[in-house]
Amino acid sequence: MVDYDVIIVGGGAAGLTSAIYTVRAGLSTLLVEKELFGGQIALTEGIENYPGFESIQGKDLVDKILAQAKKQGVKTKVGNVQSITTKGKEKIVEIDNEKVSTRAIVLAVGSTPRKLDVVGREEFDGKGVHYCVMCDGPLYKDRVCAIIGGGDAAIKESLSLAKIAKKVFVIHRREGLRAEKRWQDLALATKNIEFIWNSEVRGFFGEKFLDSIKIFNSKTNKESVLELSAVFTYIGHVPNTKSFDFKKDARGYFVVDKSYQTSEEGVFAAGDCVAGNHTQIATSVGAGAAAGMSVINYLHLKE
Ligand SMILES: Cc1cc2nc3c(=O)[nH]c(=O)nc-3n(C[C@H](O)[C@H](O)[C@H](O)COP(=O)(O)OP(=O)(O)OC[C@H]3O[C@@H](n4cnc5c(N)ncnc54)[C@H](O)[C@@H]3O)c2cc1C
Repeated sequence: MVDYDVIIVGGGAAGLTSAIYTVRAGLSTLLVEKELFGGQIALTEGIENYPGFESIQGKDLVDKILAQAKKQGVKTKVGNVQSITTKGKEKIVEIDNEKVSTRAIVLAVGSTPRKLDVVGREEFDGKGVHYCVMCDGPLYKDRVCAIIGGGDAAIKESLSLAKIAKKVFVIHRREGLRAEKRWQDLALATKNIEFIWNSEVRGFFGEKFLDSIKIFNSKTNKESVLELSAVFTYIGHVPNTKSFDFKKDARGYFVVDKSYQTSEEGVFAAGDCVAGNHTQIATSVGAGAAAGMSVINYLHLKE
């Protein structure tokens, strides 16, 4: 007798959706989250491309999905899943120091922000170097800040930061942005946002807290110093897959088959931790639903 039919690891868009599907099929479902239910959704403000909501705050969307999951009967637990092992027909999930058994697993562990590998970064992490405007932006009211990156998250968050900070520099290593045109247009039209193109940050400096950064311009081949109080980096993500020994691609993302099953029978994966996911809420929700349905089929076939 196992503790749960299904254990979902990760409480972001993908995990919550898988859980809603499995619990509605009558499978006892435990969803384990190590930090923040909602994952990356909880770290963003205006979401305008998730169908059904013209514009919604990340926190509000999380509250709705979490309430829906709990109402359907999903059990939730705060804990860090350390390992997964197979014992006959059972899978043993080690959550902190506790061992819980299950028949199937969905790994929806997502990803965490990539950090710059330059001088001073580690020293000033949390002391001027940050990864979440929503969490740490308010610390820098009326100060000078920078965003590093040129994708959707970077440009969207520069707009949020521009409402708090006196001035926001957006430092991007190319000339031209990858972000959605709507966000680009808004950022380019915002008076206190200034773009620094073709540039990379080469170092973080200060006494106790960050007070300047060194920038290298690849077009002029020149270095310059920019005085500021904080930098928020949005330069991509690293998948949270290290603890799990299933097939991955060269960048560490899980490789799954058409049914979202990993290289281990009964272990499925969905969302931003899977190779080829388009790192959007809608794609993660879609993958979570598909993985949940595959778990249902898998367990029915086993009966
Ligand atoms: C600033 C920002 C703005 C964004 N804006 C948009 C937008 O406007 N529209 C859009 O569609 N997308 C947006 N995205 C992207 C979108 O949020 C993500 O693609 C999506 O939410 C990923 O969902 P996920 O469930 O796959 O992963 P995640 O949200 O990363 O969730 C994974 C969860 O798993 C947990 N976890 C990891 N390892 C373990 C473990 N070992 N044990 C237990 N729990 C674990 C993590 O704590 C996390 O909560 C944005 C992202 C960011 C960062």
